[in-house]
Amino acid sequence: MIYLDNAATTQMDPRVLDAMLPYFKTYYGNANSIHAIGRQVTVAVEEARERIASLIHADPAEIIFTSGGTESDNAAIKGVLSAVGKKHVITSGLEHHAVLHPIQHARKVGVQASYVHVIPTGCVTTDAVKEAITDQTALVSLMHVNNEIGSINPILEIAEVCHQKGVMFHTDAVQSVGKYPIDVKTMDMDLLSASAHKFYGPKGIGFLYMKAGTPCTPWMEGGSQERKRRGGTLNVPGIIGMAKALELAVSEMETNRQRVESLKDMLVSGIKERFGSRVAFNGCVDSGCYYIVNISFPMDEERSLDGEMLLLNLDVEGICVSNGSACTSGAVEPSHVLLALGMVTPTAKSSLRLSLGKNNTEEEITYTLEKLQMVVDRMTKSLS
Ligand code: PMP
Repeated sequence: MIYLDNAATTQMDPRVLDAMLPYFKTYYGNANSIHAIGRQVTVAVEEARERIASLIHADPAEIIFTSGGTESDNAAIKGVLSAVGKKHVITSGLEHHAVLHPIQHARKVGVQASYVHVIPTGCVTTDAVKEAITDQTALVSLMHVNNEIGSINPILEIAEVCHQKGVMFHTDAVQSVGKYPIDVKTMDMDLLSASAHKFYGPKGIGFLYMKAGTPCTPWMEGGSQERKRRGGTLNVPGIIGMAKALELAVSEMETNRQRVESLKDMLVSGIKERFGSRVAFNGCVDSGCYYIVNISFPMDEERSLDGEMLLLNLDVEGICVSNGSACTSGAVEPSHVLLALGMVTPTAKSSLRLSLGKNNTEEEITYTLEKLQMVVDRMTKSLS
């Protein structure tokens, strides 16, 4: 099988599993217990917190462990909006549902939301953010790397604009942590979401970076874990695995990047060569991130090859890709990201996302290009 769905999740690195195993078997204590077995675990968890914090240039107290990207996004939005008296939030239509849905919920209880204009490459501009800010704006939430089309928002400049106007900035960095250098101090982030399974770590664990002093109400009430902001027994093996995964991702970032970038170049030039004007690249293939390629095959003004059918046909050939984001697969709705970019429904339903990772090889790309051509030609023929 060829796995080209690394934006949905990644295969856990065996070194991460090795680091986690003792915390399933030997060190099984509850990090909150004060006896010896508990204390061993507390020490390991706090070391993991320190390692994660130092890898993104944060203070350990600014790292809150969560169950992943969805919880981190929900926590940032709900927590800040309920802690601050102001009633306005700014985002874009290209965000993940983990951001859009809590904002939709907030709107039902009287919060106003502005969705800033997105340029055709799939990015927002600082001017658009500046114009949308009012004296009621509590929070701006805009993602770093888009999970469907790979566009990269200028989050440094956006944070600067927000802070000039006294507004907090949250970024969903689920797709960029471990792939791009993150320095929350230099980048001046207030809140940043991350998820371990996107950087070869375990699923069901992530973190929210929250700058010291950020007003935020607890989002999970219960025990006093995570400084009373997020109650619940800590996922110790997950935390240990996430720290190991981030350590590896950061230390091997440049090697992985070069490798994946050259595979992306090979894939993109192969697609261009084989399909010419029959293929459309969604977002901006040149300025986007180095591991996501999103394409469609328009047939004429009104028709495009169906993305779901393309995906299923490739699956039969042993190639795993995605259309839209994994979180919406199973649903027949077109990608909200492509709709927000101004695409009409049939075209937005025709997209195919190929996302590369450190385990892919040149042979796999060659095979994928061959099979993609075979499938596209066959489907085109049957429709014409
Ligand atoms: N935000 C983005 C940009 C994502 O790609 C994802 C995962 N598809 C999430 C949030 C949700 O993360 P998790 O799966 O860890 O809940």
